[in-house]
Amino acid sequence: MNMRCFHLPGFRAKLVPADKPLPQPTGSEVVLKVLAAGVCHSDVHIWEGGYDLGNDQTMSFEGRVKFPLTMGHESSGQVVAVGPDSKDVKVGDKCLICSWIGCRECAFCKQGDEHLCTAPRFLGVNREGGYADHIVVPHDRYLIDLKGVDPVAAAPLACSGLTTYSALKKAGPRLADDPVLVIGAGGLGMMAINLVRVMGGKGAVVVELDPLKRKAALDAGAIAAIDPKAPDVDKQIRHELGAPVYFVLDLVGSGETAALGFRLLDKGGKLVVVGLFGGAMSLSVPMVTMRAASIVGSYIGSPGELRELVQLVQTKGMPVIPLDKRRLEDANEALADLRAGKVMGRVVLVP
Ligand SMILES: [Zn+2]
Ligand SMILES: [Zn+2]
Repeated sequence: MNMRCFHLPGFRAKLVPADKPLPQPTGSEVVLKVLAAGVCHSDVHIWEGGYDLGNDQTMSFEGRVKFPLTMGHESSGQVVAVGPDSKDVKVGDKCLICSWIGCRECAFCKQGDEHLCTAPRFLGVNREGGYADHIVVPHDRYLIDLKGVDPVAAAPLACSGLTTYSALKKAGPRLADDPVLVIGAGGLGMMAINLVRVMGGKGAVVVELDPLKRKAALDAGAIAAIDPKAPDVDKQIRHELGAPVYFVLDLVGSGETAALGFRLLDKGGKLVVVGLFGGAMSLSVPMVTMRAASIVGSYIGSPGELRELVQLVQTKGMPVIPLDKRRLEDANEALADLRAGKVMGRVVLVP
């Protein structure tokens, strides 16, 4: 029996279909039929071949990505075969796949932060991912049972869900009392608006350039959706938050958005930068001191946090984000649309 994947032959190239024999799992490996694979902005960055670091600097993925690569790190699947040493899953189980696989030996991995591993083996980044009809996962510890949850809707939890969950946790207990400011209403932003509520938070005020995305944010339950180009943007944000600005989630991560977030922080405030759009910012150093401000980066989240998140949605309900379901064969168009900013919510490829 064969499996089909859509792999990337090189930077800025079209994904191409490839058929290969379906692997037989050995050791602790598990083979799953892919039920859904989310298309994430990081895939666009892999396709482009790097990040804009600002100040005319770029970070190239040249030499870091091995081609051909099957991307897709936001997948759910159904177990079709288990290796002899796999104990905790059985054929037929529907699972969320944690792609954040580390070396298990570095200091980060030892404390459970495999997503920060210094020698990562991430599915869809460093090894074959979910833009395929089947996927091999090296150990069942990276599979989370999805009992009671729609596996197609759940796929985005593995990256956009986990990333926003881990970032929102950094707000601490004030999440329950004060609204947070969310910059960007793309896939991550829509997830954040929903997750704030699922996590028992007060709600989110959203800043977004695109009027269609502002409307989607309001439909998803945002307290307000504000145009950053408005001349009185700071005043509008403060008015809608109705409280000191203590927590800003920058899901865009451009020089402009980070500067906006930092400028607005009140005493003790925290700017959490999640997006990777690119650019640089300058800031008033004494203001960092006087406001006792924090600027924190948040990168994905740990396998343990992903388990917490699945448990949370199993008890409190699934975040409702607009899902744009497309065929695996349409992966190229999906990437192009995401790159052009034309996607509402999340595209999931359904083989
Ligand atoms: Zn991602
Ligand atoms: Zn490691």
